[in-house]
Amino acid sequence: MRSRLEKIDLNNITVARSETARDINRRIVLNLVRRHQPISRAAVARRSGMQRSTVSAITEQLIAERWVMEGAVGHLPRGRKPTFLHLNAERAGVIGVDIQPHVTTLAVSSMDNRFLAQEQISTGGDPQEFIARLGHRVIDLMRAYPKSSYEGIGISLPGRIDSSSHRLIFAPNLGWSDLDLKTPLQQATGLAVELENAANACALAELWSGRHLEGVNNLVAVTVSDEIGVGMIMNGQLLRGTTGAAGEFGHVALLPNGPQCRCGNFGCWEALGSEAAAMRYYAESTSVRKGEVGSKSATARVSFGDILRLVEQGDQKAEKALAQMAHYLGAGIAMLVTGLAPDVLVVVGEVTRAWKRVGPVVADAVRARSFTHVNTRVLPTDPEAQPRLQGTIALVLQKHFDVPVRV
Ligand SMILES: [Zn+2]
Repeated sequence: MRSRLEKIDLNNITVARSETARDINRRIVLNLVRRHQPISRAAVARRSGMQRSTVSAITEQLIAERWVMEGAVGHLPRGRKPTFLHLNAERAGVIGVDIQPHVTTLAVSSMDNRFLAQEQISTGGDPQEFIARLGHRVIDLMRAYPKSSYEGIGISLPGRIDSSSHRLIFAPNLGWSDLDLKTPLQQATGLAVELENAANACALAELWSGRHLEGVNNLVAVTVSDEIGVGMIMNGQLLRGTTGAAGEFGHVALLPNGPQCRCGNFGCWEALGSEAAAMRYYAESTSVRKGEVGSKSATARVSFGDILRLVEQGDQKAEKALAQMAHYLGAGIAMLVTGLAPDVLVVVGEVTRAWKRVGPVVADAVRARSFTHVNTRVLPTDPEAQPRLQGTIALVLQKHFDVPVRV
């Protein structure tokens, strides 16, 4: 295997200048241990292309700093038995926070992305009051799970964050704008805070999960809820665009005379392929008789979860609403596949629970619309794995590892 050093982007002058070759090698070793643990020093040397002596020196340092532990002796047919290396999961804790429009989930994680505890608080109310409440709950969690140290707090939220000022630029579904979440939370807890858009966090989580081949470094995550968010990692780097606003494909118009979107425009992808769109399709199909009092308010209570349940029960109106949503979800995904040609595109959200129905519709749309026929693998994620929350842990830990390089 060729050296991982070749994958470091030399156009990224800030990173290249601030890191010595030794720092880079250290992150490569640490990441190989994380991805392939338990792993022998010889295997690290083989996979990285580094000298055995270099790997041994770096490993000793990582053991001294409690990043890596020696354990489990490997079983080889003959000869010396190597001592295997693994990540010291207990080295530090990480706090993950997933802010969604109504509910915010807090979690304590060990270094190996295992959640030790989770709790939920309501997201509503004045943003300053929310930040104060969140700070108190983080401190309570740290007291309940005393670790020798905490590495930091990672936050995912449905909005875009200016990567230089770290302020929230917009988060329409939260009703917040131009907000500094980072400074007050850092002051309240004494921990470093990393903020990221939810779709970007999911893209990070996906790359961090290790379920893709090591050569996969072009990955797109599409989060589907009442909104549609897109996070893009291209050439191993998160794309942020000017002021961090890149990825708002949800507000690209797919149907010029389509329904009005929350953003004010008409026919946005989000207005056609989101959970909210499926709920609207369902409501429209069940309130056809004009003047029928109360019909609209009765159907307004049908949530997206209800639609998925109704589909399971064979309700034809629900099936039709879901199929219509899936068609437009696929149309938008085809746009991303054609325009970005990622190795992998993952879909995140409750809609993946019905992937056996939705997946083929999406695949058809991609086949029909994407003339480039690139071999992008379109995959659902597992909602039980909590991709947004996994992303918040990766956000905090990634600076110690080599994937991906952040700017
Ligand atoms: Zn829009």
